Amino acid sequence: MIAQHYKDMLSAKSVIRQISEWSTARGQEIGYENVFDYSLGNPSVPCPARFTDTCRRLLADTDPVTLHGYTPTLTLPDVRAAVAQSLNRRFGMDYTAAHIFMTSGAAGALAHALRCVGVPGQNVVTFAPFFPEYKPYVEGAGLTLRIAPPRCADFQINFDALDTLLDENTAAVLINSPNNPSGTAYSAATLTRLADVLRAASQKFGHHIFLISDEPYREIAFGGAQIPYPAKFYDDTLTCYSFSKSLSIPGERMGYVAANPRCEDADSIVPMCGQISRGIGHNCPASLIQMAVKDCLDVTGDLRVYETNMQLIYDELLSLGFTVVKPDGTFYIFPKAPEPDANAFCRKAQKYDLALVPGDSFGCPGYFRMAYCIPTEKVRRSFAALEALMAQEYGVTKQ
Ligand code: PLP
Repeated sequence: MIAQHYKDMLSAKSVIRQISEWSTARGQEIGYENVFDYSLGNPSVPCPARFTDTCRRLLADTDPVTLHGYTPTLTLPDVRAAVAQSLNRRFGMDYTAAHIFMTSGAAGALAHALRCVGVPGQNVVTFAPFFPEYKPYVEGAGLTLRIAPPRCADFQINFDALDTLLDENTAAVLINSPNNPSGTAYSAATLTRLADVLRAASQKFGHHIFLISDEPYREIAFGGAQIPYPAKFYDDTLTCYSFSKSLSIPGERMGYVAANPRCEDADSIVPMCGQISRGIGHNCPASLIQMAVKDCLDVTGDLRVYETNMQLIYDELLSLGFTVVKPDGTFYIFPKAPEPDANAFCRKAQKYDLALVPGDSFGCPGYFRMAYCIPTEKVRRSFAALEALMAQEYGVTKQ
C-alpha cells in the first residue's frame, strides 16, 4: 500500500515552485529575458573563485579513495574544528569541533535539530511570515508547527502571540533571521526579550525549550550591519546554517548544526545527530564539499548585487505607494499587496510578465514576496511592467 500522507502532499505543492514553473513556461513563449521572475530564491551570483580553486586543488591533490570516501558518522573532524573556530572568532562563542555537525544544507541541519529536541506529538512555534518549507520539515519530524501571526509594522516578533502559543508540549521555537520572506533581521532587543520569554517558559513548563535558529542568510546583511547572533542571547540554541546562499552553492547541499556549548546536554547533541542521520538517510554529506567549505569559511560570493537590487526595488515600491518594510538582508522583500487578496494581485501581475509570490503560504495573507536574486538590469527593466500593472489595474501612478 502506498503512503497516503505523501500522496496527499502532491495536491499541496509549493506555490513558489508553481510560479517558477509558470515563469519558465512563459519564458519559452516570449524569451526568458522578458519574464521578470521574482519567484525563486536561487542565488544569482557565482560562487567565489576560492571555492572553485579549492575544489580543483582537492581533486588534483587528494587521494581519490579518501576524497570520495564515506566521511565519519559525525562528519569530518578538521572541518568541524574549523567551523567552530570561525564562529568563535566572529561571534565570541566557545564552540569546539564536538559542537558542530556537518549537514546537507540548512534543510538537513533543521531535520537534525528538530529531532534532537522534539519528540513526536510536541509542538514547535515559529513566527509569520515564515519559510513555507518549515511545515514539511516540522511535520516530517512528527511535530506540530504553531504559527504566531506577523507583526507587520516591522516584522519583529509578536510577543503577545508567542505567550499564548508556548505550553508544556513546546519543544522549540524556530526563528529565521534575516528572514525569508521579509528580509528583516531580529534586533538585539528582540532577541534579548525572546531569550527572557524562553527562560521563563522553560522554568514554568519544567523543561528546556530550545531555540532553533535557521541562518542561511546570515552573510547577506545590508548597510554594513552586523546581524545579531541568536545563540549569543540564549544558551539552549541550535544554530542551523547553510553555505547555499553565502557561497552560492545550493546544489552542493552543505551546512551544519552548531550546538551552543551551554545548551542542555551540549556534548550529546552531535553524537545524537549521528544517530538521527542513520534514520533519515541524511548521513555523511558530500566529502569533497565538506573539505572545500573548510577553506572558504571566511569568504562569500560577491553579494553586493543583492543590496543594489533591494535599494532600487524598495525606492520603486515606495514611489508607487506600496507599504513595505525595508529589508536588513537576504534577497527578499515582502510588500503589502494593493488589494486584500495577494493571490489576485499576483495573478494580475502575471499579465505583465511579473512573477510574484503571494504571502499566504508564508503565513501572511495580503502580502507578496519578491526574490530579487536576478540581474540588476532586469530589475530596472521590470519597473515598466510594475508601473503598467499599478496604473492599469489599480489606477496608481508613480510619485
Ligand atoms: N531555511 C530558509 C529560511 C531558506 O530560505 C532555505 C532555502 O531557501 C532553507 C532553509 C533551506 O536551505 P538549504 O538549501 O541550505 O537546504
